[in-house]
Amino acid sequence: MIPTVLPTYSRAPLNFVKGEGSWLIEADGRRFLDLGAGIAVNALGHANPDLVAALTQQASQLWHVSNLYEIPQQQALADKLVDTTFADTVFFTNSGTEACELAVKMVRKYWHDKGQPEKTGIIAFEGCFHGRSSAAIAAAGTEKMVKGFGPLLPGFTQLPWGDMDALEAALSDTTAAVIIEPVQGEGGIRPLPDSQMKTIRALCDTHNVLMIADEVQCGVGRTGRLFAHEWSGVSPDVMMVAKGIGGGFPLGAVLATQEAASGMTAGTHGSTYGGNPLGCAVGKAVLDRVADPEFLEGVNARAGLLRQKLEGLVASHPDLFEDVRGTGLMLGIRCKEALPCGQMVQAGYEAQVITVPAADNVVRLLPALNVTEEDINEAITRLEAAAVAMEKQPA
Ligand SMILES: *Cc1c(COP(=O)(O)O)cnc(C)c1O
Repeated sequence: MIPTVLPTYSRAPLNFVKGEGSWLIEADGRRFLDLGAGIAVNALGHANPDLVAALTQQASQLWHVSNLYEIPQQQALADKLVDTTFADTVFFTNSGTEACELAVKMVRKYWHDKGQPEKTGIIAFEGCFHGRSSAAIAAAGTEKMVKGFGPLLPGFTQLPWGDMDALEAALSDTTAAVIIEPVQGEGGIRPLPDSQMKTIRALCDTHNVLMIADEVQCGVGRTGRLFAHEWSGVSPDVMMVAKGIGGGFPLGAVLATQEAASGMTAGTHGSTYGGNPLGCAVGKAVLDRVADPEFLEGVNARAGLLRQKLEGLVASHPDLFEDVRGTGLMLGIRCKEALPCGQMVQAGYEAQVITVPAADNVVRLLPALNVTEEDINEAITRLEAAAVAMEKQPA
């Protein structure tokens, strides 16, 4: 019989009942060091006192009001996002997938309103992940995500990751936008070199095409800048944000320049829950913390420490691990072919350290941005224990 919860996930038999900072507590009392942070969601750790205060304070006042009315918490968060980024305007969603939907609608509407309705094509890159809606799976285009769900939303093409010649050749009079994760998450923690971000920007400009950055996973301080594209010195026209921005509360956003957003007039888009007072109050508390330059400096320092220690771990287990990849606190350990990354994640569970598998046989490490030095040291001790346990296993 089908489980009462639709069985679309293969879940680990772990039942967490409480979180504290970088720690998760299992129902049986065991404490796990959380290097997954809900897949880059709990940006400030579990039960962060500032976020709990923001949420409960708002919860005692007003949970929901329709977007038919002014929402001051939404206004405050939008103002802060505009202040701290390239963007001129923000639409709030509840998830990354919804942000993807709007980004696609926005760029198509832009060209429609410019009198170039033939510009509908969206170019994505292999290994990308933009969500699970019909548009987002069409963007990814992998058999694993699209098989059985056709007919797909038309207009999407996938190019080899980082292939700028292929991009130049693919851009045409019918291209609306290029969509890119500055650091691929699900695809296996693959950072796009800054030079290629610059090339994409330049090619978009010369070919009259909009650029969408998907910073759902790599944004909100994860790479040590508020948004990952900032490292390259160029900005997209449209940006998708979610995951970390809500610190664990469902919240997403599409940020855009005035020009790119110009087609989105009253009545062209909407959401019942998007931008609700609870989510925006929490999002503002997250952003107040993460956008602080001192906090971001701390992220870079913690990232340097974690990376250095991971390099040591990998070097001392050359039979298990290939290398460390990624940037900031978005890091991956690439496992040797003989070791499926899922097995390493499993060994981590035994050692009471939580990591997340990704494509390309990579074990993802996405700790809370405020993870302490002590917890980083403990994480390495536990990963080391997991590695040693795997080496003892009969092949
Ligand atoms: C998780 C993710 C999404 C989808 O976000 P949801 O909130 O799960 O809908 C989109 N893009 C990237 C890069 C992601 O990591």
